[in-house]
Amino acid sequence: MLITRHLEEPCPKCGVSGKYGNVNVGRNILNRGCNNCREWMRHPLPDIRKKVIYLDQFFLSHAFRDQEQPFIDAANRIKDMASRQLVVCPYSSVHTDETHLWRHEQQEDLYKFIKQTARGYQFNEAYEIKQEQMYRAFDAFRSETDIIHPIEECDAFREDIHRWDDYFWINIRPFLGDLEAMRQGKAAAIEGLVDLFPEWRKLTTSFEEDVNMEARGYGKSLLDQYLKMVVNVGTGSLNSYMEAPIDTMYVESLLHCDSSTMEIDDRLKRIGEFFSSPHFTNIPNVRISCGIFAVLRKMVKNGAYTNLANARRKLAGLFYDSECISVFGPYSDAIFIDRVMKQWCEDPEAMLLEPHDTKVYSVAGWDDFHSYLDSLEENYTDDIREALNLFYPGVYA
Ligand SMILES: [Zn+2]
Repeated sequence: MLITRHLEEPCPKCGVSGKYGNVNVGRNILNRGCNNCREWMRHPLPDIRKKVIYLDQFFLSHAFRDQEQPFIDAANRIKDMASRQLVVCPYSSVHTDETHLWRHEQQEDLYKFIKQTARGYQFNEAYEIKQEQMYRAFDAFRSETDIIHPIEECDAFREDIHRWDDYFWINIRPFLGDLEAMRQGKAAAIEGLVDLFPEWRKLTTSFEEDVNMEARGYGKSLLDQYLKMVVNVGTGSLNSYMEAPIDTMYVESLLHCDSSTMEIDDRLKRIGEFFSSPHFTNIPNVRISCGIFAVLRKMVKNGAYTNLANARRKLAGLFYDSECISVFGPYSDAIFIDRVMKQWCEDPEAMLLEPHDTKVYSVAGWDDFHSYLDSLEENYTDDIREALNLFYPGVYA
């Protein structure tokens, strides 16, 4: 057997030293073994409940550069707390995309650092989480039941994150789309957004009206993209399915509901109605991302971003920020994000993450972030401390 951590003490069975130690951890059981007598011992570890902290790309890339003290301090503290099983900072498809869009020789080193900080834990892909939330809302819409949007941890994680870490984690190769197309798509999206600003300035809509307009626009774009793909497939372009943006899958999957009892036109019509309903607007990720864009509309109406070239530069990361906050925020106990995005999330009319009890931190409040981490030390109970001594012998004595 492979002993990952040798113990100084001799094997309790055969008395031989130097061949006895920790092998692995699985389902909160620490397995110890001896390579002399082949004895195998199991030590149950206490149940734990970790806090999930989402660290955005900005935080992680600064921590990786290892130059600015506040980032170094916070990152070291998080690393220590993660190894003491108090917190977990899973990485996401947004980290994967943003890292690989970064044209830099240290790209792979940064990605490795991100995965190490996460200790191998990762969120499900953004589209998987969005799809789960959308199914649930569509079910409620179809059955005309109340709009309940629970945040289920199993939507966001394939594995139990509240377990003791193992000594090894599997390094999963990322799924990467067409990076050049993603770069162009990102630039085009910002371009298209900023082009709307002159029209937005004329609007006299309220915040809630803007949220609803954003949600209607999103629903319409999902349907349009799907219909466009169908037309392309119909004209014999068989690659259309392969090339279709992942967003077309949402409509495709909703169309499967009741396919044996309803005609396709009726099913499509029903999806259109769903996209204009409160069931859709109140899907957690839709509500939050539309809220972010409604705050932006409000700022534009109030005279911000008049210089469009500057706006394009300042808002370059907006779609990724919006995705990480709206998709992963609700499953996190705390998120560390861009200073401006924190202000938007906490806009009094928006309070975007309040329904999910997610705490929001940024570089504008290092002390607040450290106070939050202080508060988590309460969870470092004596039984965890003792178990950690078995888990990492001699490290936290
Ligand atoms: Zn032995």
